[in-house]
Amino acid sequence: MRESMEKKKITYLNLARIHDEIRAELDAAYARVMDREWFIQGEECRRFEEEFAAYCGANACVGVGNGLEALLLILKACGIGAGDEVIVPANTFIATALAVSYTGAAPVFVEPDHRSCNINPELIEKSITSKTKAIIAVHLYGQPADMRRIAETAHRYGIKVIEDAAQAHGAEYCGAKAGVLGDAAGFSFYPGKNLGALGDGGAVVTNDLALAEKVRALANYGSDYKYHHIYKGNNSRLDELQAAFLRVKLKSLDRWNARRRTLAHRYLTEIMNEKIRLPLVAAGTEPVWHIFAVHCEARDELARYLKECGIETNCHYPIPPHLQAAYADLNLSEGDFPIAERLAKTELSIPLYYGITDEEADYIIACLNRFEG
Ligand SMILES: *Cc1c(COP(=O)(O)O)cnc(C)c1O
Repeated sequence: MRESMEKKKITYLNLARIHDEIRAELDAAYARVMDREWFIQGEECRRFEEEFAAYCGANACVGVGNGLEALLLILKACGIGAGDEVIVPANTFIATALAVSYTGAAPVFVEPDHRSCNINPELIEKSITSKTKAIIAVHLYGQPADMRRIAETAHRYGIKVIEDAAQAHGAEYCGAKAGVLGDAAGFSFYPGKNLGALGDGGAVVTNDLALAEKVRALANYGSDYKYHHIYKGNNSRLDELQAAFLRVKLKSLDRWNARRRTLAHRYLTEIMNEKIRLPLVAAGTEPVWHIFAVHCEARDELARYLKECGIETNCHYPIPPHLQAAYADLNLSEGDFPIAERLAKTELSIPLYYGITDEEADYIIACLNRFEG
C-alpha cells in the first residue's frame, strides 16, 4: 500500500490554514479599526466596496449585513413586494427563497438541470406569469448558472435577473465575473464562503448606480441623508471590522481560488468510480469550487465509508426549500420537483479548500476510487 493510503483525518473545512498565513495582517486590521474608533460606515467599508467592485469589474458595491439581506435589499430596491412572483431554483440554500418571502412576494420554484445542478433555463418560461418580476439565478457550488439563456428569457418578458453569488466570489462566465452577470448580485461573506469575514457580512454588486444608491439607503433605515428617511428601510450594514478583515482577505482570493481549481482538476481527472458522478463544468465557465459536489445513489453509504476513512463530508442540501416545514404554506409535496429531490438524496460534498495538501488530495482520491458501494 502506498504511503498516501495511511489513514488520515481530513476535516470538511479548516479555516486555520488560511488564517495562519495572514494572521499578522488581520491583527493589524483590527488595530487600525480600534485606533480609529469608527465602527460603522467609515473608511474601511468605503474602501472595501471600491476594491470589491473593482475585483468584480462592476461600477458599484454596497456592503450589507449578510448574504440573505443582500438579496432582500436588491428585491426591495427593484420595487418587488406583495402580489409579485420571483422565480428561484428548486435546488438551492433556503436563503434564496426566504429573501423573496421577506418582501411579501412569492417564490416560484423551477427545477434544476440534473447535470449542472443549477436552474434549468428551458423550464423558466413556463413558470412566468403576469406577476413575475424577477429571476434569481444561483451560482450553486461556485458554478455559474446559464446566464445567457436566463437573460434571453428575462429580457423577452421585461423582468430582472438577480444573481445569488453567495458561493461564487471570482467565478467567471464567458470572461465576466459573478457580480456583473445580471442586474444586481448578492454576495455573502459568511466565514466558510470563498471570501469570508470573521463573522457575518454581505454585499450587493451592480453596474446600476441608481440601484446601488437605493440599496444603500434601504440598508441604512431608508435614509439618504442623516435623519431623512425616504423608505421604510432596514438596518443591514457591513461593519468596519469585518470590512477591514475582508480587505486583507480579498488580496488572497485569487490565490485561494487557484488552489481550489487545481484540487478540483485533480478530483475531476483522477476520481474514477462508476458509482460516483462528478460535477459538470459547463462550457464558458470558470467555477470557483465553493463546494465539490459528487452524486451517488448510495450516498449515505459513501458518507459512512468516507467517515471510516477519516474523511469528513457534508450534504448541500439534504432537504430542498419546497419540502421544508418553513414552506408548508406553499402546499408543495414530495414529487413536485423530482429532479431537485433526487439531487438532495444523492449529493455528497467532499473536502476541497485552500489548505488541502497534495497528500491529502491523493488520499481522498484513493479512498473514493476504492469505494465499492
Ligand atoms: C450562504 C448563502 C446565502 C446566505 O448568505 P448569509 O450570509 O448566510 O446570509 C444565500 N444563498 C446561498 C446560495 C448561500 O450559499
